[in-house]
Amino acid sequence: MTDEELKQFKDALSITAVARSLGIDVVRGKCRCAFASRHAHGDRTPSVSISEEKGYFRCWVCDDVRGDVISLVQKYKGCSFVEALNYLRETFPFLAPAGKTSSVTKSTPTVKSFMGPHHNGAAQTPQEIYATEPMPMPESAPAEELVSEDERKKIILNFLKMLSPVDGTQAAAWLMGRRIFKPVWDKMLLRTIKDYGLLNQTLKDTYSMDVLQYVGLFNEKGNLKFYKHPLIFPYLDTQRRAFYFQSRALESSVIPKEMNLRGTVPYPYNMSALDEKPGWVYLCEGVVDTLTFLGQKIDAVGIPGVRSFKVEWLPLFKNKNVVLCMDKDNAGREATKYLQEVFGNAGIRTIVLGEGMEHLESSMKEGEDVNDWFGGKR
Ligand SMILES: [Zn+2]
Repeated sequence: MTDEELKQFKDALSITAVARSLGIDVVRGKCRCAFASRHAHGDRTPSVSISEEKGYFRCWVCDDVRGDVISLVQKYKGCSFVEALNYLRETFPFLAPAGKTSSVTKSTPTVKSFMGPHHNGAAQTPQEIYATEPMPMPESAPAEELVSEDERKKIILNFLKMLSPVDGTQAAAWLMGRRIFKPVWDKMLLRTIKDYGLLNQTLKDTYSMDVLQYVGLFNEKGNLKFYKHPLIFPYLDTQRRAFYFQSRALESSVIPKEMNLRGTVPYPYNMSALDEKPGWVYLCEGVVDTLTFLGQKIDAVGIPGVRSFKVEWLPLFKNKNVVLCMDKDNAGREATKYLQEVFGNAGIRTIVLGEGMEHLESSMKEGEDVNDWFGGKR
């Protein structure tokens, strides 16, 4: 697991879901302290706050009971960082980076540093963790924020405004090859980078490099990312503005096929389908599958990957029944199981796309996704 993967993994986890997996009772963002016996007055009212947004917990009595999802597991299980990470990977297997199942104990420098002189199998204090964590902790982040969250959103919005509609470009050809046509491009404001060099320069002329890198548009070498990922899918909010997007490679040889903007995915793709009106909504893996349904005039929303559904999105699904449309492969099946449970716990009805139709000639074949099923890549 690289640092970036570790960050994505942590971002994808809901700290509330992690707490509940540990048997901790979380009520309105509060839970009991694992070390309540140390409190002068016990723990009659829960003294630990859990911030779902920041992925952070903190006991208001104990100075050392605080941290991220991994610290939470360490504190409540009394285990090491590596053991906590392994616990999370086992408990939320579909969140682990695809194709990587090896234990984290032998992967990255970040993790190795936890196996250094201090490591004796006992739980490390949060201070030790913070000392080696490559990512700023939420509590310390505000001071280090290069631009405010509002400013960051404006920059992303402005970046998206600099892009071209896909019409008549390679991106259009790619979309049509997947049977996704102009009405959907327009509805979802699909965009493309027509002239990478010009856009790269314009952005450099408009913002400082620090800022461009901070917001995740530029790479460490000082160039605009997305050189090989020119198709941009903005995540429109209910007012059709976007502060988040994914980018897609058009050449099949490019890996990864898709790139996510750095930071937390704020809401599912095409969230305007979640209008609180009673009805069905199709939940897809990825933007392309979502666009495929939209082309069929079917209400659909997408999650960027099987790892990225967040429990705090559940209220958005109010009044909906959900058709789960994950890929027909192992990762997709794992995700389906998890989502059935998560929605079920929230009292939201789900059915699985194509279930009970397996005997039909037209059913989804092993390894297929929704776009394949609708005859996309043929
Ligand atoms: Zn405490």
